Amino acid sequence: MESRLLCDGTLVLPVYHDLLTTPERMINMALDEIEIYDPHLLFVDPTHFAFLAREMRKSGRTPHKTDGFCIMSGFTLCTQVARRQITEVYGDKVAFADMLGMSELGYLGFECPAGQQHMNTKDFHIEFIRDGRPAEPGELAELVITTLGDSLSPHIRYATGDIYRLSSDACSCGSTAPVVRHEGRSKNVLWLHDGSLVTPKELDELIGPAQWIDMYQMNQTNDDEFSFQYIRNDAWTQGAEDELLAKLQATLKTKNISCDAKSYLPADRGGKFLSCISSVAMREEKRRLISWV
Ligand SMILES: [Zn+2]
Repeated sequence: MESRLLCDGTLVLPVYHDLLTTPERMINMALDEIEIYDPHLLFVDPTHFAFLAREMRKSGRTPHKTDGFCIMSGFTLCTQVARRQITEVYGDKVAFADMLGMSELGYLGFECPAGQQHMNTKDFHIEFIRDGRPAEPGELAELVITTLGDSLSPHIRYATGDIYRLSSDACSCGSTAPVVRHEGRSKNVLWLHDGSLVTPKELDELIGPAQWIDMYQMNQTNDDEFSFQYIRNDAWTQGAEDELLAKLQATLKTKNISCDAKSYLPADRGGKFLSCISSVAMREEKRRLISWV
């Protein structure tokens, strides 16, 4: 543990480069260290932490705290499936909030107690740009950031490649910071045969907290070709799977969706696990279409 203590006292838990092949010894080490360190705040990747929550349940362990404790989620899109598994283990007295951030910029926004995402307008000048113009509320738009008062590494109109929708609604929490919905990275959207697109967030809304799924990954492999792979649990039924597949076919406007239960899904080379990826969105011409600035 000493070797992973930062100078501000933060403990960095051990993590394996490919989540689902994490050796049992390392899983137990991470769970033991949470108990020993007894944190009041955990800052986690949601897919990684949902995996640990499942392992806790399997081994009959209980959380080190179920009250007066906070979990912040970041790094990748927090799927409803991951969130459900974490809250099932930790209970509803543990505050859970999704953070919007980028490693090169820091905290861009945060989820409020009313469950809405607000942008950080204290440290950044925020723009939502579509086709070179400011986006209207509700439109898909790219987040463009200018840092305020950052003399070490200032960014001016930095096109983030992240897609958002701005909301015109005031939030019931009372914050006046802009309310947004982070839709995902432009390189991870699903392009449909009619030229429209479905964002990773929209896909996740469709799948929902799905009791029968532990983890999923949608992969657009080619034009009008999709592969949905998932890890199922004891709550799986053929009916639930058929229902989801029908919804996916309607939303993606195609029958070309393979749907397979797996026992293993690989993390990407950087160790992250992305719930929605698209080789079509990586193409140069598609990236230009999304490059709205
Ligand atoms: Zn709010």
